[in-house]
Amino acid sequence: MEMLPGIHQLRLPMAGNRLRHVNGYLIERGDGYALVDCGWDTADVLETLRAELHRLGSGLDDLRALIVTHFHSDHYGLAGTLKRLAPVRLLMHRLDWLFLRTNLVDPSRAAAGAAAWLERNGWPGSLSMEEQRTVENFRRFTLVAPDQELEDGEVLEVGRYALRVVWTPGHSQGHICLYEPEQRVLLSGDHVLDPITPHVGVMRPDMGDPLGAYLASLRKVAALGVDLVLPAHGEPFAGLGRRVDELLAHHRERAAAAREALSREPATAADVAARLGWTRRHTPFGELARLEQRMAVAETLAHLESLRASGQVTRTTLHGRRYYEGR
Ligand SMILES: [Zn+2]
Ligand SMILES: [Zn+2]
Repeated sequence: MEMLPGIHQLRLPMAGNRLRHVNGYLIERGDGYALVDCGWDTADVLETLRAELHRLGSGLDDLRALIVTHFHSDHYGLAGTLKRLAPVRLLMHRLDWLFLRTNLVDPSRAAAGAAAWLERNGWPGSLSMEEQRTVENFRRFTLVAPDQELEDGEVLEVGRYALRVVWTPGHSQGHICLYEPEQRVLLSGDHVLDPITPHVGVMRPDMGDPLGAYLASLRKVAALGVDLVLPAHGEPFAGLGRRVDELLAHHRERAAAAREALSREPATAADVAARLGWTRRHTPFGELARLEQRMAVAETLAHLESLRASGQVTRTTLHGRRYYEGR
């Protein structure tokens, strides 16, 4: 699907995942194509990419650049395979590469670290073999270094377009959007989606206040002149300002709910998560699948840490568990 002259949207499959697919964007340049986000490292994704390039009268050999909005495997997963099969230069933000090479060199250690972290925050369940496999599948990629580390404000000349790198930390620390001021178009990665609410969570120690960063990044893109948003999941949409307002309002409500759910007794993030409704239908925490419960605890932690950053709650550690209390 050609979204703008020379910008083609690809729907790369995410089999078995409720998101169903991730959108890659092929952008024509004089000597071939740049691809923004590449999908999982799976055969069906590679097949889809080959077929789409073939339809455009090209092949993998014509891929010259791969720009990755962030390190999640539905965006970065295939990068290692593409580096092997195509003459492609990989570009990503410095901080997401730093994160990958320090935290995800050993996936099973990373998984064990995540389980221990959730336990410290009151979520007791270790995963079943099958759940563990799901998590590992989702994380599967070959670690490959970028040829170019990106910084905020850099401009990438891709064919007729000059794409400005807009650093938008929150969903990941090194998340970027790409902005084209003449066409007033924003490739938003997972930063702004509609109607999906992007996940912002705390999945390991020392992550600081990612929600605070996310909200600032929402305001940052809202200040750009944008007529069309090309997101990594779901349909392209107009009305970036409206969508940012909705997401800001959503987080204000969730923050108020998290604040209210704190009783006088110290509570873990899992205790607080269990007092909140989840999904758009306000599903009780206990009815979520266990992998969704993990995400819910990580999101609750993001809210609690954000409230803590603004001095509204305090945190203590007792017998290895972390507890929050309202002020
Ligand atoms: Zn993501
Ligand atoms: Zn994604």
